[in-house]
Amino acid sequence: RKAAFAALRDVPPVTRDGHRVTLMVNAGLRDDVAALDITGADGIGLFRTEFQFLVSATLPQRERQQRLYREVLDAAGTRPVIFRTVDIGGDKALPYLNKEDADEENPAMGWRALRLALDRDGLMKVQARALIEAASGRTLNVMFPMVSEAWEFAEAKALFEAQRAWLDARGRRAPLAIRYGAMLEVPALAEQLDLLLPDIDFLSVGTNDLTQFLFAADRANPRLAERYDWLSPSILRFLQRVIGPCRDAGVDLGVCGEMGGRPVEAMALIGLGIDRLSITPAAVGPIKAMVRSLDHAAVRAFVAELIARPPRDMRGALTDWASRNGV
Ligand code: PEP
Ligand code: MG
Repeated sequence: RKAAFAALRDVPPVTRDGHRVTLMVNAGLRDDVAALDITGADGIGLFRTEFQFLVSATLPQRERQQRLYREVLDAAGTRPVIFRTVDIGGDKALPYLNKEDADEENPAMGWRALRLALDRDGLMKVQARALIEAASGRTLNVMFPMVSEAWEFAEAKALFEAQRAWLDARGRRAPLAIRYGAMLEVPALAEQLDLLLPDIDFLSVGTNDLTQFLFAADRANPRLAERYDWLSPSILRFLQRVIGPCRDAGVDLGVCGEMGGRPVEAMALIGLGIDRLSITPAAVGPIKAMVRSLDHAAVRAFVAELIARPPRDMRGALTDWASRNGV
């Protein structure tokens, strides 16, 4: 089977009826970039920049950050890389940042990610400069984690734009363009799409955090791991409501949580109308094989029907359909 997946490296993820899906990989370390060539993925849909901070004994200075980002961009070549600004704090507390601040009862919903970055904007300014300089002469794709309200995105984007202007004024070669995106992983943001969409270029659903917040169920608690299914009508209907507004606003919508790396889940996402998945590299082969065996029009119709009248066993219904339809 492994060899069969490897053979798919150079064929595109296209459905039987000719619908092209974008398959990207999640990464976080310099060496993860090798996954692009090994899997034949379309790019890096989530580069978790906090990894460099987590493996470092001291705060990585701008030069070190910039070197990593440039190496990643060089290795990716023409393939896009979406850099997510640091998602630290909470359970990913850093010993060299203020310790008392990390002493929280509910770190997952605590002072983390963009919340911390906006409060300690010195950190994000350094990262913004590192990213902008690393991407000189190319397109920079930057995405903010744990956005809960549209104004938080606006502030983060303004911070980047100010850094871009600062570097411009000093005659540094700028990126060709900066594309800005938000992660949708805090359910509250979905109620502000009208405020957010005009300002963003892309939106990426983080199903790991989204599920934990939608169900109020700790993603790290093994007792709950089997209880809430990604194929629950709550998740699928939540996503369904986001798709139309994104399409109308011309905002590129993708999923970068673990959900997209599981074949039945990925089939449901494609059935909903989501055309960009960023997944763990090991899943690219199996997901591509699934996509290539799928009839896009048929799965769209089936999932629409399923969501309108969800059976108790959603997973069973999807699995049955898949085997009856040669997926
Ligand atoms: C997510 O929450 O789904 C996600 C992709 O981000 P992380 O797993 O890094 O929180
Ligand atoms: Mg997350």
